[in-house]
Amino acid sequence: MQIQLKQLFLEEGKTLPIDGIIPNTEEKLWPGHPVGSPVLVSGKVTNRAGIVTLDYSASFTFCSQCARCCEEITRQMNCRFTHILVEELSNQEGEQGYIILEDGVLDMDGLAAEDISLELPTKALCREDCKGLCPKCGKNRNEGDCGCSAGDVDPRFAALRQLLKEETPKK
Ligand SMILES: [Zn+2]
Ligand SMILES: [Zn+2]
Repeated sequence: MQIQLKQLFLEEGKTLPIDGIIPNTEEKLWPGHPVGSPVLVSGKVTNRAGIVTLDYSASFTFCSQCARCCEEITRQMNCRFTHILVEELSNQEGEQGYIILEDGVLDMDGLAAEDISLELPTKALCREDCKGLCPKCGKNRNEGDCGCSAGDVDPRFAALRQLLKEETPKK
């Protein structure tokens, strides 16, 4: 989606609605990022007293694997983003975060891809209290006890226990 905004920059008070679908060109837009559906984009660009603001939301399906138990995760996500658009940067300092448009054209696909990729969780869990896989037998412990002996302690907890022991002052 390429949106020509040259005219909008000239007209204060003007608003341009933005509605569209970014097709599932996953490979191109989200290399290595798990977005499994077309992205629905909805919002508007407004010229308010010469300041052009883009305000939109993006809906899509996030697909990934649980970082603990490897189960498939599909989650409907809706993210909202706001940007200030400029035709060119002035010489003033501190203008990071502004989106500079080339020839007054907003590359909506590219911008949405960038925005979304920053929102996606790097470590997704199927649920907050996912028990993960048994380190011994590999069974998914969300589905029940695997029967491995209770004496087997997660190595991380073993380390913690050791640490606590060392910190206990001797009498
Ligand atoms: Zn899980
Ligand atoms: Zn087990």
